[in-house]
Amino acid sequence: MKKWIIVLGTVLLLSTISISSIYAATDTPEKSHHNWAEYGVDYHEVDGGTHEYSYWKNFIKRNRTCQITHVIKTITFYCDKHDHTRSNTVLEKTKHSHHHSN
Ligand SMILES: [Zn+2]
Ligand SMILES: [Zn+2]
Repeated sequence: MKKWIIVLGTVLLLSTISISSIYAATDTPEKSHHNWAEYGVDYHEVDGGTHEYSYWKNFIKRNRTCQITHVIKTITFYCDKHDHTRSNTVLEKTKHSHHHSN
């Protein structure tokens, strides 16, 4: 008999969880109506390591080490409706310390 009470209790608990998740789901569309506005743009550089490239000088093939830098662009958005922010990070460009074709 005691075992059945535990089982029943577990079923009730699980149904309570699923009901609350349904409520949470129906709550979402309302919250998705944001009023996102661009708040600011920020750039920062990330070390992309080095790589070797070859070039010709006076008919001699030479090797040189090039430093790669990734420029990361972070756009921050602000929603005044719910007073929260979100950011979008994109790779703006990849810079090489030396100009080379290969
Ligand atoms: Zn919002
Ligand atoms: Zn390079």
